[in-house]
Amino acid sequence: MLEQDLISTVIRPEIRALTAYKVADATGYIKLDAMENPYTWPEEIKAEWLKVIHKAEINRYPDPEARSLCNVLKEYNQLPEQSGILLGNGSDEIIQLLLMSLPANSTVMAPEPSFVMYKQIAQCLGLKYQGLPLLAESFELDLELTLAAIKQQQPEIIFIAYPNNPTGNLFDSHAIEQIIQHSKGLVIIDEAYAPFTDASFIAKLSTYNNLLVMRTVSKLGLAGLRLGFIAGQPGIISELNKARLPYNINILTQCSTEFVLTHPEMFAQQTEILRNERARMFLQLSTIHGIRPYPSAANFILFRTEQNKATPIFNALKEQGILIKNLSPQQGPLSDCLRVTIGKPEENNAFIKALKNAKNAMP
Ligand code: PMP
Repeated sequence: MLEQDLISTVIRPEIRALTAYKVADATGYIKLDAMENPYTWPEEIKAEWLKVIHKAEINRYPDPEARSLCNVLKEYNQLPEQSGILLGNGSDEIIQLLLMSLPANSTVMAPEPSFVMYKQIAQCLGLKYQGLPLLAESFELDLELTLAAIKQQQPEIIFIAYPNNPTGNLFDSHAIEQIIQHSKGLVIIDEAYAPFTDASFIAKLSTYNNLLVMRTVSKLGLAGLRLGFIAGQPGIISELNKARLPYNINILTQCSTEFVLTHPEMFAQQTEILRNERARMFLQLSTIHGIRPYPSAANFILFRTEQNKATPIFNALKEQGILIKNLSPQQGPLSDCLRVTIGKPEENNAFIKALKNAKNAMP
């Protein structure tokens, strides 16, 4: 059998129609493309951590429920006492788990533009996906359109990233509450960027039984560990738990996260620097002719260039050793848009300098 025939026999058409999530090779670049925390840990904390790793029983399976880590995460994130919690190998895995648990032919909704995995995984699983276009320029929720879509299509699940990726803004919280109230399905508030804002829906978990809040330790500074969690009504969480693979959180992730969250002051310091750098970068970007940055509550800034200039600027930055994210190929509202992650002050300075060079070299 020809390979192509074999593929069409054994792979579902919706998967064949997808393109794989691509991650650029960042070797040798100043890496400002993936919303990572640029800081590592002081040597004395690393030394303490190695002692913890040394004791890890790597020959045994990890705690399948990661109970101890769940308790630490509940406290660190100030989750309500009665709230259920479920962990995933990154919040990506939780999105997959949520969507896998839906009945066949369910409808999934999310604002657009937003985090691409909501749509990617929904399509992969053969679910119906409906994007909810954000208002042009403000990137705010179009509440009227959204409520009408909910009424008409009764989605089983809606994802709302808060702050939103790639636009960086926090949607109006009253609009989000309206969405939760009008939805008969689940509403997932994805707080991946929580370390960079004081806004949160965690306090509302006790008010709405269809609300779930999802977070990750990736942006805090632990992207390499792959750990996310979702919190909400214990009944819903325990149903989702049945679809989870038993040992999805490996022992090194469990003991490392548990250890390092005993140093909240270190993360508080790092995120404080990044928040200040975000404000400084926003001002600097605003002063560059032909560049329009959008206000951000996350650890990145989306900015618009003059027409058809995004890709040439992206390439010119790369030539100067700086990797950011080019969103312009996604077109629509993201045409001419680039996204830069907030790095260390010296990395940010290098980026601004390279951007100015790139602009000056343009016809
Ligand atoms: N949600 C949002 C809004 C994101 O931007 C990302 C990563 N870019 C994730 C979830 C996934 O995070 P992770 O799988 O690293 O926990």
